[in-house]
Amino acid sequence: MKFPRLRHGWLALAAALAATLAACGVNPVTGKKEIQFVSEAQELAIGAQQYAPMRQVEGGDFDILPGLTDYVNGVGQKLAAVSDRKLPYEFVVLDNSVPNAWALPGGKIAVNRGLLTELTSEAELAAVLGHEIVHAAARHGAKAQERGTIMQVGMAAAQIGAAVGGMDAGLANLALGGSAIGLQMLQLKYGRDQELEADHYGMKYMKLAGYDPQGAVTLQETFVRLSKQGGKQQGWLEGLFASHPPSQERVEANRATAAELGRGGAIGAEAYATHVAPLLAMKPGYDKYDEAVAAARKKEFDRAQSLALEAARLLPREGRAQQLLGDLALARKRPQEALGHFRKAEALNPDYFGSSLGLGMAAYELGDKATAQGAFERSAKLLPTAPAAYFLGTIARDRGDTTAAMQYFKTAAGSDSSYGKEATAEYVRLDLPQHPGNYVAAGLQADANGRVYVVIENRAPMPLAAIVVTPVLVDAGGRILQHGAAVQFRGPVPSGQRASSAIDTTHLTAEQLKFVRVRVDAARPAP
Ligand SMILES: [Zn+2]
Repeated sequence: MKFPRLRHGWLALAAALAATLAACGVNPVTGKKEIQFVSEAQELAIGAQQYAPMRQVEGGDFDILPGLTDYVNGVGQKLAAVSDRKLPYEFVVLDNSVPNAWALPGGKIAVNRGLLTELTSEAELAAVLGHEIVHAAARHGAKAQERGTIMQVGMAAAQIGAAVGGMDAGLANLALGGSAIGLQMLQLKYGRDQELEADHYGMKYMKLAGYDPQGAVTLQETFVRLSKQGGKQQGWLEGLFASHPPSQERVEANRATAAELGRGGAIGAEAYATHVAPLLAMKPGYDKYDEAVAAARKKEFDRAQSLALEAARLLPREGRAQQLLGDLALARKRPQEALGHFRKAEALNPDYFGSSLGLGMAAYELGDKATAQGAFERSAKLLPTAPAAYFLGTIARDRGDTTAAMQYFKTAAGSDSSYGKEATAEYVRLDLPQHPGNYVAAGLQADANGRVYVVIENRAPMPLAAIVVTPVLVDAGGRILQHGAAVQFRGPVPSGQRASSAIDTTHLTAEQLKFVRVRVDAARPAP
């Protein structure tokens, strides 16, 4: 038996899809008839379940300037109020420099601070939010799910800890459990028709909410210009343009829509400038932070360190700068120094999983398991990750709580990272004494001369030693009639390899031989 990889996300999704009968529905935005496999209840459930973990994955809420989030949410709610579909809309600003915005099914929308610093008016912000509202309202994400076109793409926005803190994988691999669906939703590349539809109805909502639809035209013109320049430096290609490809066709279509709707309405350049001023004042600090992250990824730790210190000085209320200093200290094997930075980071941004995760790792390295356990638990509550589950498993194992340890290791095993592999091995080590038969396959084989062998195969992800098996004679119902002599394989058998040992079966008839099974009695990981 192969050790099961736990992919709850897809299984849950497949089950949900299979359990639902396709319904013929009317698209709430366009009024067109369409076949709908994902019910409204499921759409709302995806949004409600995924919004919090996806905000964590994408940088965490930008809570340093709560007034900014209130402003963005206010503009969003004005548009939501005139949209064709009533959903529990929510709008947040995320602490992420990549210019991006996204919508989950059910009307859960997020905008990165890195996009807000690039916009020039409230009408442009309304164009972005109106566009995202249509993606949610017109079921564009749900339709991608129905078509099965959601792709697994590498996550660009991995936490810096993943690069320097000994982690080998992006957050896409480290985040666990139900986050799979949400992650795929964020990486959705909308099709041409959906982009045109989102622009068109988004502009209609702008007009109804009192904004000049011209904002969507200038915005799209800017996007086309930026994409022609490559847009790479400012992160446009990995951000907004990856999911919402700009095009000259969209510019033309928006001009036609604007002409149809008529000019007039608020542009709100001054109002926007006023609300975004505190964020713009912080931009130099974030630029230093981004440079520091890039240097850390290239393992230029000295340069990263001085840039991060400068960022921390410019952004005294931003926990991410302290977290980066902690990550850098961990990478340089200075856990005591790291602990101080992570404590500051957690105090500044207690609602972000990354600061608690770093604190747990620093405390664990210092041997302070009580502090580590508390920090890992706080982190996992905000976002379940493979490292938190793995370390919680080792802490439980070390205090002798095998049941809890196995549960944590099983959870961490769902990740495609070195933590996932290590957790799988730890799980097997604990499970092996109870269920050796789950990891060793055994049977009989005869050679051309009629000599009979016991053959075993190691199906555990590690070498096994001291494998003991016993041939048993069973009746037609599988009941054991007679035990043979136990066979011991002392030496290590590598993972995936076989070993065999001849046995004496001269006392059995050919008919009886058909009823010999091989029972696996014991095995342990090779030292
Ligand atoms: Zn779009």
